[in-house]
Amino acid sequence: MADSHHEKVIIVGGGPAGYTAALYAARADLEPLVLEGPQPGGQLTMTTEVDNYPGFPEGVQGPELMELMKKQAERFGTRCIFEEVSKVDLSQRPFTLTAGSDTYTCDALIVASGASARWLGIESEAKYRGFGVSACATCDAFFFRDKEVFVVGGGDTAAEESLFLTKFASHVTLVHRRDELRASKILAERVQADEKVSLLWDSVVEEILGEDDPPHVTGVRIKNVKSGEVTDHPADGIFMAIGHTPNTAFLKGQIEVDDAGFITTAPHSTATSVAGVFACGDVMDPHYKQAITAAGTGCQAALDA
Ligand SMILES: Cc1cc2nc3c(=O)[nH]c(=O)nc-3n(C[C@H](O)[C@H](O)[C@H](O)COP(=O)(O)OP(=O)(O)OC[C@H]3O[C@@H](n4cnc5c(N)ncnc54)[C@H](O)[C@@H]3O)c2cc1C
Repeated sequence: MADSHHEKVIIVGGGPAGYTAALYAARADLEPLVLEGPQPGGQLTMTTEVDNYPGFPEGVQGPELMELMKKQAERFGTRCIFEEVSKVDLSQRPFTLTAGSDTYTCDALIVASGASARWLGIESEAKYRGFGVSACATCDAFFFRDKEVFVVGGGDTAAEESLFLTKFASHVTLVHRRDELRASKILAERVQADEKVSLLWDSVVEEILGEDDPPHVTGVRIKNVKSGEVTDHPADGIFMAIGHTPNTAFLKGQIEVDDAGFITTAPHSTATSVAGVFACGDVMDPHYKQAITAAGTGCQAALDA
């Protein structure tokens, strides 16, 4: 019955944004319920070493960091359950959420459902993810000091990630399936002028090559889409920069999102187009996409709620 599931605040998402929102909401006596969805702990559960989250001078494993965040939120009465929201009705209060066969209602809703990096979808990419394959240069570039890396993509993100990687890697090769970059003119010019970056036009990654013991990337197999020629290139790392998809399918038609599907919020606030609904973390942030910024906006969302 819907009534048995009425809550003051429901938080959708159990990543850094959701758990931080829960911590603050719980400490404000709002007794939050977190619906953690398909990936409790969020994106950081897919990585190993996290070296840029403050408070861990020696670094911390992603899954461990998320376990600690969850425990801290639970210490103040947060309840976390493994439920994925499939649809919401935000047209009236209380808001209604459907998850499996259950219905939940709440007075305030915090959306912290994150975003998913887009991947190529090839088997070897999944096999070496975290072992040389990454979707975040800001997070992982440091591990590729003096190494040979490839970046896949042609937009602003690919250009920015390539330029960032030049600070660490010995050489960066940008692989793009077209013969010109989609990135803004200034970024495209900077990439093409950088002597540490070379471009492989009209090219796609067919396979990521590596060894198993210990798992690591050794190369990348690339196909020229015009000539059909396939070549193997030595590589230590490969960064996918082909965009992120915000997890907003369950909100379809209920809330304002931008062209790429990210929830739009009022300036300097987590307030969305629906009064009483707040958004935080990667689902509303196409730019920074970091655990610390997600946690920061999670705090804001709870305070706003
Ligand atoms: C491999 C990898 C390594 C990274 N390394 C770093 C790093 O070193 N440092 C750093 O700062 N950042 C790193 N990042 C980025 C960082 O993980 C994200 O910026 C951060 O996790 C975003 O937090 P979030 O809470 O907004 O969303 P997420 O972590 O994406 O969590 C989203 C949550 O929402 C839930 N959810 C989604 N849909 C639904 C639904 N329909 N119903 C209920 N729940 C739902 C998911 O199950 C998940 O619990 C990395 C990312 C990746 C992929």
